[in-house]
Amino acid sequence: MASNDTLSHAKSPVNRNVKHVVLGDLLFQTWYQSIYPEDLVSKDTNRLYVCRWCFRYSCDTNSYARHTQVCHHRTTPPGAKVYDHGGYSVWEVDGECHKLYAQNLSLFAKLFLDHKSVFFDVVSFLYYLLVFTDPKDSSYHILGFFSKEKLSWDANNLACILIFPPYQHKQLGKLLMGVSYKLSGWERDIGLIGGPEKPLSEMGSKSYSRFWEERIARYILRQESEAMGTKDSSQQKQKNPKGARKRHPHEIITVQDIGLATGMLTEDVITALKGMGVVEPTTPSKRRKSQQTSGENGPDDSEMVIIHKSNVLDWAKAHNVALQDPVRAEGFLGKLAPNSSKECTPSPNEKEDGDGPDDE
Ligand SMILES: [Zn+2]
Repeated sequence: MASNDTLSHAKSPVNRNVKHVVLGDLLFQTWYQSIYPEDLVSKDTNRLYVCRWCFRYSCDTNSYARHTQVCHHRTTPPGAKVYDHGGYSVWEVDGECHKLYAQNLSLFAKLFLDHKSVFFDVVSFLYYLLVFTDPKDSSYHILGFFSKEKLSWDANNLACILIFPPYQHKQLGKLLMGVSYKLSGWERDIGLIGGPEKPLSEMGSKSYSRFWEERIARYILRQESEAMGTKDSSQQKQKNPKGARKRHPHEIITVQDIGLATGMLTEDVITALKGMGVVEPTTPSKRRKSQQTSGENGPDDSEMVIIHKSNVLDWAKAHNVALQDPVRAEGFLGKLAPNSSKECTPSPNEKEDGDGPDDE
């Protein structure tokens, strides 16, 4: 099992085998120990050179420089592009098809992840790379990634997430989280409601809480906006998300309504609502009313939380949450379903790569 982990970091580094990494033309400090083979990377390595395209590594600057001249992924990442909008794209890499790539990515990521992660069982995981393409010269940069089990019994839509340190604090984690929910396909008939693998690290928990809060706020904002639109023009028929019902701001909405509309687990919805401070004490009359609006299969009392939309709207205003989701629906490409049948064909380049992690 993989561990979900941090998007950001504040602690001082301790006991690391690699002290710094050179990724392309960036030099930065590592945070944690990784499990690079000791015959290739000594326990006391000051600088490890890592290819910014394929994550191959070397302690030797000359061998690193030679590799970057011939790296097979210089011009394009492996796998298939599943999302592309505003210069940012997301590439799906099957760990089975690109085993060496996935292992090298995992080894690099472990330098910034506290928990144990998956290194060699990469075949059962998909990796989603966040890529920025520079409009000036069309060169591309991998900014981070998340991994996901191909088959998760717990409906986890994400196992491990990392934005590389030089690219943190730019809201990019939220972009990947949004993509992970979209990929779990909750908007379609076969959609699954899911969430990140638990337990979350401290920073992961903080990042997710804010993401969930904004996701809920955006959903309520969108509902209000659509309700206003409908009021303005009866001909205007906007797509209403699954489970969403048009109501006024003072009306009660249930956790289940929100979960269905946003693809979020009940527990995550409750965490977010509590974080927003919009949960109200439940009274028997409100509980009855809410159960009526939710139909026969309403939530049991333990999942019952009452909120007023107007409080959520106030929260959204106070926190400058925009109606527009940073993840654009029109940015998704091809088949959305990671579980749909795909051909697993390693690229010719991957076959030529050889077995050693540091081959040239
Ligand atoms: Zn490379």
